[in-house]
Amino acid sequence: MNNQGKVILAGAGAGDPELITLKTLRYLQKADVILTDYLASNVIIDEFANPTAEIVYVGKQCKSGIKTPQASINDLLIHYAQQGLLVVRLKGGDVSIFSNIYDELITLKKHQINFEIIPGITSALGAAAYAGIPLTAREYANAVRFLTFYNTHTIETAQWKELAKTEDTLVFYMSSDKLITIAQLLCQYEADASKKIAVVEQATTPHQRVRVFEINELLNENLSIDIISPALIIVGKVVNLHNEFSWFHGQNYEVSYFKQGVAT
Ligand code: SAH
Repeated sequence: MNNQGKVILAGAGAGDPELITLKTLRYLQKADVILTDYLASNVIIDEFANPTAEIVYVGKQCKSGIKTPQASINDLLIHYAQQGLLVVRLKGGDVSIFSNIYDELITLKKHQINFEIIPGITSALGAAAYAGIPLTAREYANAVRFLTFYNTHTIETAQWKELAKTEDTLVFYMSSDKLITIAQLLCQYEADASKKIAVVEQATTPHQRVRVFEINELLNENLSIDIISPALIIVGKVVNLHNEFSWFHGQNYEVSYFKQGVAT
């Protein structure tokens, strides 16, 4: 590695800014440049980032409305790092779950830029906690799978047959517009039609909303279920636990108490 800057690929957590790690917080306080996703909470930048850091909003649906292609994000990382700067690339949730970290890693390696990877709380885990749905509760599920069905090629027929039968908890990312199709496919391959599906919108934020359906309630083609992004779909027996263990009702954050001087 040559003596250039450094890129920190860091997870911002699922939405609630307090879910960030101290390690990422420490880097945000030192960063020269922060490239941030649309999923990372603005509060994190406003409250914790080095006030002199340059903030660059990137991401497919970033709040500014600008779409940044991955190639441009890669170029930006290199551009800043080659000036000897400390660059934090902040991504929503965890850096490795359904993100483009692989492209960024290849680019960094190719240009011999030093990097670190700091994990974050992925939205499945944030949603599970804040919705009171323990993903592998004893006697309910022995495993959990993180999936995406953002297009119909991501899951083949053979896999649907298996998913329909499994007792594992299934968490679908980037798939909220496929809610009805997911229910139909599970039913088609003979899932228990009374199995529960939770839709968790804006998990861990004050706007979190959790709705629970049975598969058979979602089989009507004409059903229109309005889902606000970002949202996750959780399928499995564990969803039954939501009623009993739901505890979060959109409380606001209390971030100011650790605003200054943490982990310097
Ligand atoms: N790296 C992220 C996922 C990026 S893919 C992570 O680890 O969470 C984007 C998808 O993540 C969204 O389409 C949605 O399915 C899910 N997601 C991210 N944040 C979410 C949130 N606060 N609530 C519900 N779903 C969320």
